Amino acid sequence: MNEKLTIALTKGRILKETLPLLARAGIEPLEDVSSSRKLVFDTTSSDVQLVIIRGTDVPTYVRHGAADMGVVGKDILLEHGAEGLYEPLDLGIACCRLMTAGPVGWQGTGARIRVATKFVNIARRHFARRGVHAEVIKLYGAMELAPMMNLADLIVDIVDTGNTLRANGMEPLEEIASISSRLVVNKAAMRSRYRPIQRVIDDLAQVLENGDAAA
Ligand code: AMP
Repeated sequence: MNEKLTIALTKGRILKETLPLLARAGIEPLEDVSSSRKLVFDTTSSDVQLVIIRGTDVPTYVRHGAADMGVVGKDILLEHGAEGLYEPLDLGIACCRLMTAGPVGWQGTGARIRVATKFVNIARRHFARRGVHAEVIKLYGAMELAPMMNLADLIVDIVDTGNTLRANGMEPLEEIASISSRLVVNKAAMRSRYRPIQRVIDDLAQVLENGDAAA
């Protein structure tokens, strides 16, 4: 049995913004995560280890208790559900918006529309709420290509600056959700390992409260 507290981190853009927060909370990987092919890292806090995985896998690891805690984008939690997880902190990092977008000047026909996205559950819920009959087409990347190739009328995607949309002749239409990264905790672990988990939550909350001033 591994007694270390395990925190699952989302690799990529979220990781870059998570590491400085963890460092200020006294948790730093003992080696450079960006130049290592390892997936598990010991830290300066000897009872805490980090695993670095894909965002879509973070809720799975935490839900099953393979990791006690995790850092993951709200988009993943909205798309794949958050059962078995507490979400005690909004870390306020990797902020972006989940939006519908279409070709510049696109006018809805009122008829059935085709929507390409990797967020199929979010898209289905969104259009159902609007009473719009939408055929949702699952893609794994490059959503903005779909309208150009007449695979879909609209897309649902993450928008930060909007540059990706503009570069492909598209514009944002409607905001579905405001996204940031969240700290999630396994519900059973929150009871069985309350003290170390609450310490990490409190330390991170303090870091967020101190803001940039303590960077
Ligand atoms: P932008 O061109 O700045 O609007 O960025 C859009 C693209 O960057 C999207 O298609 C996403 O794949 C990616 N992106 C931007 N911000 C985030 C984020 N916070 N988390 C995950 N992906 C993001």
